[in-house]
Amino acid sequence: VFGWTSRAEVPWIVPVVGSALFSLGGFSLFNIMGNPRILVIGSLNTDLITRTSRVPAAGETLISKSFDTGSGGKGANQAVACARLSTQKCDGPQNVCVYMVGAVGDDTFGHELAEGLQNNYIDVTGVTAKESEKTGVAVIIVNEQTGQNRILMSPNANFSLKPEDFTTLSDFGKDFTPTRLPCLIVLQLEIPLDTTLQILKVASKHGIDVLLNPAPAQVLPKEAYAAVNHLIVNESEAAIITNTADKNPDWSKWGEHFDRIVALGVRNVVITLGAEGVIYLETREKKLWRFDAEKVNVVDTTAAGDTFVGAYAVAVTTVVKGGGDFAAAVRWANTAAAKTVERSGAQGAIPWLDEVPAYWE
Ligand code: ATP
Repeated sequence: VFGWTSRAEVPWIVPVVGSALFSLGGFSLFNIMGNPRILVIGSLNTDLITRTSRVPAAGETLISKSFDTGSGGKGANQAVACARLSTQKCDGPQNVCVYMVGAVGDDTFGHELAEGLQNNYIDVTGVTAKESEKTGVAVIIVNEQTGQNRILMSPNANFSLKPEDFTTLSDFGKDFTPTRLPCLIVLQLEIPLDTTLQILKVASKHGIDVLLNPAPAQVLPKEAYAAVNHLIVNESEAAIITNTADKNPDWSKWGEHFDRIVALGVRNVVITLGAEGVIYLETREKKLWRFDAEKVNVVDTTAAGDTFVGAYAVAVTTVVKGGGDFAAAVRWANTAAAKTVERSGAQGAIPWLDEVPAYWE
C-alpha cells in the first residue's frame, strides 16, 4: 500500500489493513458531536535569529549576514500546528478548538506571541502576561557554511508556571469542567518538570488523554509515564528515555527500544526519525509500523517535529476517536511534517489542513 515499507530487518512489521473511516476534511461525525477540544500547555518563545558565515570566537565581534525574529516555543508551535491542521486556510473557523495555556512577559514580545496565536484561531485566554517576567527568548545563531544552529534558550516567563497553578481542572481554562473536558492535553518539557508532573496528575484523575513530546529530553519518574497515552520522541529523546547509550541506527534493535518504553506504561509510542520517516508501535497487538519520510525538497527542518505532534494530535482526536486507526494518524502526521520541511522558518512553515492530503474517505 502506498507509503508503507516492509523492511525485512524490522521484526514486527505488518502490511496496512483497512483504512480509517472518517473524512478528516469533513469531520462529519464530529460536527454532530461538537468540536473536539485540544489543550496545549507549554512554552511560548520569541526566536532571535542571526545568520553568519562563521561563529564568532571568544571576545570577537562579527557583523552578521542577517537578523530576523520569529515566533516559537514548542508549546506555541504545536498549538499552531493543531489549529492550522484542523482549519482550511481560507475559511476558518476550525474543526477542532485549540486552547493554549502558558506564560509570557507583559512586554512587546509577549503580546506579539499571543496575538500571533489568536491569528491562528487559538484560544489564548489561558496565556498569562506576567508583569514581573520577561518573555521566553531563544537566541539562534545559524552558521550558513555548515547549516548548523547554536541555540541559547532563556525560558523566562515559561519557568514561572508552578505546580500550584494547576491544582484543579478549572486552572486548565475557563471552558473546562468535569463534564466538559479537553479531548487531549498536549505537553512538552519546556516548562518546569514538577509543573508537568502536576498536570499529568490532574489529567489522570479526570481521565483526560495526554500526548507527551518530551523535548528537551528529560527522564520522568516512572509512575508519570502511566498517565501518558501518546509518547512522541525523536531518536535522541528515545535513547535518553530508554537509557540507551548511543542512538541506534540498527533497525532490528527498534523492537528493544519500544519494549523499554512500553515497559514504562506508555500506551502509544511514536519515534520520529527525521529524514528516515517514522516508526510507530501499536501496543495492543504489538505491531511495529514504519513509514518512510516523504521525498521533498528540504529547505529547513525547523518545527518538523512540532508539526508532526500537532498533526498526530488532530488525527487522534478526530479520525481515531471516530474509529480510524492510529497508523493512519501517524502516516498523515508524517506527510504534514514533510510540508514544513519544504519551507523556511518555524511557525510560519506549518501547513494548513487543505495543504496536506487526507487519506480518509
Ligand atoms: P525538530 O526538533 O527539528 O522540530 P524533531 O527532531 O523533533 O524535529 P524529526 O524526527 O527530525 O523531529 O522529524 C519529525 C518528522 O518530520 C519526521 O518523522 C518526518 O515525518 C518529518 N521530517 C523530518 N525531516 C524530514 C525530511 N528531511 N524529509 C521529509 N520529512 C522529514
